[in-house]
Amino acid sequence: MNAAPMQAVRGMNDVLPDAAARWQFVEGVIREVAAGYGYREIRPPLVEKSALFSAAIGEVTDIVEKEMYSFADRGGESLSLRPEATAGCMRAGIEHGLFHNNCARLWYAGPMFRRERPQKGRYRQFHQFGVEAVGWHGPDIDAEILLLGARFFRRLGIHGLRLEINTLGGAGGESRARYRAALVDYLQKNRADLDEDSRRRLHANPLRVLDSKNPAMAGVIAGAPQITDYLNAGDAEFFSALRGLLEAAAVEYTVNPRLVRGLDYYTGPVFEFVADSESLGAQNAVCAGGRYDGLAQTLGGRPAPAAGFACGLERIIALAGGGGGGAAPDVYLISVDGGDGAGEALAAAETMRDAGLAIQCNCGGGAMKNQMKRADRSGAAFAVILAADERAAGKVTVKPMRGGEQRTVGIKDAVQIIKGETQWP
Ligand code: ATP
Ligand code: MG
Repeated sequence: MNAAPMQAVRGMNDVLPDAAARWQFVEGVIREVAAGYGYREIRPPLVEKSALFSAAIGEVTDIVEKEMYSFADRGGESLSLRPEATAGCMRAGIEHGLFHNNCARLWYAGPMFRRERPQKGRYRQFHQFGVEAVGWHGPDIDAEILLLGARFFRRLGIHGLRLEINTLGGAGGESRARYRAALVDYLQKNRADLDEDSRRRLHANPLRVLDSKNPAMAGVIAGAPQITDYLNAGDAEFFSALRGLLEAAAVEYTVNPRLVRGLDYYTGPVFEFVADSESLGAQNAVCAGGRYDGLAQTLGGRPAPAAGFACGLERIIALAGGGGGGAAPDVYLISVDGGDGAGEALAAAETMRDAGLAIQCNCGGGAMKNQMKRADRSGAAFAVILAADERAAGKVTVKPMRGGEQRTVGIKDAVQIIKGETQWP
């Protein structure tokens, strides 16, 4: 009798050749966008001493309490598969003197491991792209990493993410301590409405209560005091300076005073890029980060201010979509009505290829509706439409295939929009 076929570990996915093309595309965009801001790649190991993670992430956190894959090495030392890479990047930077009298802009991408309940958008081996900017006090560097993130999403054709920001108060901890006291007071008064996890965290880690995913906790959380009302002058000034920079760079954001992060090392501004729940369901945060000025010292290094983020690549790939088979083109070029139209379409396609874009032309004619269906199937992030009106105006219509308004513009502007060099209005 044959043995039953072997199966992968639950929550750990194979990337099959059809999907690998999409991963390669996203990895290419990561390298390109990171280089565009002067970030250099670092590849820390997948396994570190468990003590690194409990020191960096915090003992009373979901990750360290219940999600780490830890094991005793043959010598008896506890090691863990990395649940995130910031701790490893900081450990490596300190160990190799990267931050010694120096600033460093770093990026990484690779697998992370957390023993969570597998569901859509939540896996036990998943992948993150992240950046760490070490050595700058900000807030200019905080704004830079947000711009880098926003460009990354635009370049992938992902529009319509919401950027939420908040602050946890600076590394001095004064604002946070005042807020913590007010929060503990409030939570104690509402103890009857807290779930078991939150009761346990009430004293050890009260801010984490705001991060609860339990729907039954939503009411208590909504009524909680807001940290933005407890900031000292310096922390309020830092946060408003960051907001000013984002506004100057036309980055849209909302302040969410209940945004806290699930890891202890954050200080100062924190943020998340969130998709609407229609596209991703409950697991809709695609990128999260903030400032962690105390981490270098916590890990035994000299003090070094730092800020960074981590993006979940499975969720990003789900949003970026893409057809099966080969790599999806950037653009599906639709051209309606024959005559000179075909020649103009070929020329427009060549112009866009000269600018580095991958174009799939509609061949074999067809009504607009049918061509649009093919554009959808191609997995292209954009359709570019050349019909009689566009031709008469010497323009093209750019239509994002995954949400967002279409616009009629000159071909050069179209290229810039598609490459993410122009903000989508
Ligand atoms: P969540 O609140 O969804 O558990 P988190 O606060 O644990 O997220 P971070 O540790 O900040 O998340 O990780 C940053 C990003 O990595 C998340 O926004 C998400 O996109 C992705 N991510 C985190 N955990 C997983 C997972 N188990 N599977 C897939 N992606 C994940
Ligand atoms: Mg989590």
